[in-house]
Amino acid sequence: MEVLYKSTRSNSAPVTASQAILKGLSDDGGLFVPEKIPALDKSLAELSKMSYQEVAYEVMKLFFTDFTEEELKDCIAKAYDSKFDTEVIAPMAEADGAYYLELFHGATIAFKDMALSILPHLLITSAKKNNSKNDIVILTATSGDTGKAALAGFADVEHTKIIVFYPKNGVSPIQEKQMVTQKGDNTYVVGIHGNFDDAQTGVKQIFSDKELAAEMDAKGFQFSSANSINIGRLVPQVVYYVYAYAKLLEEGKIEDGEKINVVVPTGNFGNILAAYFAQNMGLPINKLICASNDNKVLFDFFTTGCYDRNREFVLTTSPSMDILISSNLERLIYMTAGSDADKNAAFMASLSKEGKYTITDDMKAQMKDFYGNYASEAETAETIKALYDKTGYVIDTHTAVASCVYNKYKQETNDATKTVIASTASPFKFTRSVMNAIDTKYDAMGDFELVDELSKIANVDVPNAIEEIRTAPVLHDHVCDKTQMQQTVKDFLGI
Ligand SMILES: *Cc1c(COP(=O)(O)O)cnc(C)c1O
Repeated sequence: MEVLYKSTRSNSAPVTASQAILKGLSDDGGLFVPEKIPALDKSLAELSKMSYQEVAYEVMKLFFTDFTEEELKDCIAKAYDSKFDTEVIAPMAEADGAYYLELFHGATIAFKDMALSILPHLLITSAKKNNSKNDIVILTATSGDTGKAALAGFADVEHTKIIVFYPKNGVSPIQEKQMVTQKGDNTYVVGIHGNFDDAQTGVKQIFSDKELAAEMDAKGFQFSSANSINIGRLVPQVVYYVYAYAKLLEEGKIEDGEKINVVVPTGNFGNILAAYFAQNMGLPINKLICASNDNKVLFDFFTTGCYDRNREFVLTTSPSMDILISSNLERLIYMTAGSDADKNAAFMASLSKEGKYTITDDMKAQMKDFYGNYASEAETAETIKALYDKTGYVIDTHTAVASCVYNKYKQETNDATKTVIASTASPFKFTRSVMNAIDTKYDAMGDFELVDELSKIANVDVPNAIEEIRTAPVLHDHVCDKTQMQQTVKDFLGI
């Protein structure tokens, strides 16, 4: 069955998967959603015998229906290879009664690698399929992890350029070092004076500027997005939920058909939306537990039905979740509003004008499987320390937010359902915050000294991604105001 993609904001004609991937965002500013979420066509027992790559094919073939088997398998083989430091790609660690799904074994040690390893290949294949004559310019706003993962994925990929905007004072030192040392003639990295929402809003504005698009086209360029608004990022993220379930089944940890909970440390709502897609495909998921940090706009939303971004933006130790406008929530809003683009567009207009909207009771009822809660900075640090003291397992700050929220959920509900926690970054990426949580004595140490100390206490080798940047020279030092983003892009492209 062919799956086509519609915009969340207008009733324009649906497009194919490859067209949706190529465009990233619909011309009307909406996000692409599949007309219908396909059902898994392999049994859980069959999936439990498969490798990560095989599960990836079984999931992606159902969404990317205009790709041939050969094209898709080729993309998968190129993405999930020795760039990952483990053959199973997404291993699971059991600690203190939960299963931590480690999504950080790729090139940049954060879960963004799971999708951004394959997106360049999906994009190039999509461009070929649509006889696109233009070079693709990837424009990305990052709260820290997407930027590096996208840079690594697209560096030196023919017929592409990648421009990354990050909040100059809103990412961890290691995250910044990872980005500004990126090699590749087609890579551009810019710090902006502003926060992540400013960066994301700026990028969306550039995308929806029709004049600029025409200018670009005349010069042989077209924009696409590596942010999780691109459906080519969302679908590869569905894979690891299916894979995690399959592995739990294979290892006899759950019965065939037994429901599991998933807990996701959430920012832009991409990762947890992928879990929702997996549930809609038929994966037995009980609760979708949405964990926020002090920027708890989603907790308030799931509690009250009102999404309200009018509040202080807080910088936390889990910077990849420092977000007040969770872009992917729009897809859930659209789907629960009966796939009604007009209704969704009205909510989004209200968000952009008043900074808030309130969903209907019917929509809220359809979100009953979501549970939201949040962890304060102190609770996040306590969670890292408590888990380490109890088990020796060290988690990063984002994963700790999820772990803390899971503990709150268990206390509130006594739900004993087996639970998978999405572990979204290696603790080595947020070494200082992690080590400070374990013992304040580490505060005096330098960044790389801390890395070595973490390796010792966690009994884990320092990941390659960290070794590489120890001595790497800074190659990018561009900084601009949030109002100058468009001009900066033009300058880079020489238009
Ligand atoms: C991006 C990111 C998140 C948030 O994921 P979303 O899909 O934006 O909700 C959480 N943790 C880490 C480490 C990330 O890089």
